[in-house]
Amino acid sequence: MLQKDLETTYLLGDTNQGLRYIRASTNRPNVEYMVEVSDDSLLEERVVECMQSVRKGFEAGQRAVVFCRSRSICERLAEKLGCHLYHRTFEAKEESLDSWIDGSERVIIATSALGTGVDIDGIRLVVHLNRPHGVMDCVQEVRRAGRSGDAIRSHVLLGRRESKWLQSNGAYEREWNREGLRLFLIERQCRRLRLSAIMDGESVSCGDAGGRPCDLCQDSSRSKADAVTETRPSRAEEQEKRYAVRP
Ligand SMILES: [Zn+2]
Repeated sequence: MLQKDLETTYLLGDTNQGLRYIRASTNRPNVEYMVEVSDDSLLEERVVECMQSVRKGFEAGQRAVVFCRSRSICERLAEKLGCHLYHRTFEAKEESLDSWIDGSERVIIATSALGTGVDIDGIRLVVHLNRPHGVMDCVQEVRRAGRSGDAIRSHVLLGRRESKWLQSNGAYEREWNREGLRLFLIERQCRRLRLSAIMDGESVSCGDAGGRPCDLCQDSSRSKADAVTETRPSRAEEQEKRYAVRP
């Protein structure tokens, strides 16, 4: 696990010239984690739909970023949406970034080349189209949503084929970063619980953190409520609620 690896590498006691390893928790209660599985053929349309609702629903100063795994997907999506993009070889990437930061455009489509040093106020939604490279990459990319304490949603969109592959391939990666991500995406327990166990070495659920509940915690509360009322909102109503980024 990451915490253990870091401690092994950097936790230095008195015998090591008094150096000490200090590391803050990665757990951010203001982030709501959500994973959605969609038909493969509809995946990109789902992103377009989501970003169109961002353009309509977000207030001034609020913005969203979509991370894609390849430059070609990045370019295709930006063209469909008529929005800015950012990847390593895109010539106008700095101008794109500036327009997104100054608020002329609320949406940017990017690869992981959107630097780790980027820490911009007003990011309320971080979408990953397909799985991120690893659990640490996912956390770092969500951390680009600034640290103001505003409500932020982390939304990973998977195709059915990718989801099935992740579920069936227990030996997907022996390496903790990728295996951690796989577990975060497929397990049916609180997503924050898995994330904090991997990143911080302690299991903190959404309830423990007093933070925004992840999709699975929301499902669990909804099931309990349904058991009492025996009513369920329609799928469309559920999706609408999930896309509404609450303050
Ligand atoms: Zn949870």
